[in-house]
Amino acid sequence: MDQEKQTQLLSVRNLKKYFPLKVSWLKAFSKERSYVRAVDDLSFEIKYGETLGLVGESGSGKTTVGRTLIRLESPTDGHILFEDVDLAKISGESLRVKRQHFQMIFQDPMASLNPYMRVGNAIGHPLKIHHIGNKSERKMHVYEILNKVGLPPEEFYNRFPRHLSGGQRQRVVIARAVITSPKFVVADEVTAMLDVSIRSQILKLLIEMKNELGLTYLFITHDLASAKYICDRIAVMYLGKIVEIAKTYDIFKEPLHPYTKILMASVPVPDPKMKTKKFIPTGEIPSPINIPSGCRFHPRCPYATKTCSKIEPELKDVNGRLVACHLYDQNGKN
Ligand code: SF4
Repeated sequence: MDQEKQTQLLSVRNLKKYFPLKVSWLKAFSKERSYVRAVDDLSFEIKYGETLGLVGESGSGKTTVGRTLIRLESPTDGHILFEDVDLAKISGESLRVKRQHFQMIFQDPMASLNPYMRVGNAIGHPLKIHHIGNKSERKMHVYEILNKVGLPPEEFYNRFPRHLSGGQRQRVVIARAVITSPKFVVADEVTAMLDVSIRSQILKLLIEMKNELGLTYLFITHDLASAKYICDRIAVMYLGKIVEIAKTYDIFKEPLHPYTKILMASVPVPDPKMKTKKFIPTGEIPSPINIPSGCRFHPRCPYATKTCSKIEPELKDVNGRLVACHLYDQNGKN
């Protein structure tokens, strides 16, 4: 195993997730089926201890990527190498055993907690599922993790979710996600439903948990300020494809892909005197059922040429980062 491979926790190859559309009985016997191509041939890696941000507009396929990586969805095609085990190819007991090593934190903490389950039981539930420890050991572990997430156990162990604030509920969800000491956590829009004042506390908690427990995150968000704060690298998604991957500093300093430039231009600048160059996309985001030919961003791209509507650009190395755009083909601009 080469050194590069040893540093990768997750290696995703040609991952696809298509959802078949329901058809009327008149078309039921037709061989042609329509699909929502939510994730369309993605390849990327996540290193041990890294936080990879996945950003893009709603409907770009970010959540489906997260759900597919931890097998809440079965991939249509491709490979998800998790420490050399292909998660895309396992099922049943093998998958259940592996699940201990990956968890997901969902956007809505209220919806992801059982309203009739007390906080202590909810957090300890994954330990029970994975047969970790006996009853008293599990309770001790829950006490420890409650302390770690800033919820004094004497006060919170027996509470119900309805007796908690939004921020406290998200702390409980984080505690439940990390109690099995997973290696990989998908955090899906974890601060989206929280007040601005609470957001930074939850981001800080995620960083603390990562450092203390050695976690690796896929951080899914449309909030670029949060991504900038927490992520080591950022992957930008558009209509089921990754169009750029780069280190966080580089992507904010100098975005290369036209779509990334548009996203970055939408981040508020604290200094009102500072001039930023605005790139405004034209038209609506196309439907993932009828994906445009060639570069799928071409109907909205201010730089599109004839080549762009015919040939789909591949994700290629451009000065140490990966970009899918014909502007950076070897021959320069089209
Ligand atoms: Fe724009 Fe063409 Fe680049 Fe696509 S390939 S982003 S249409 S310039």
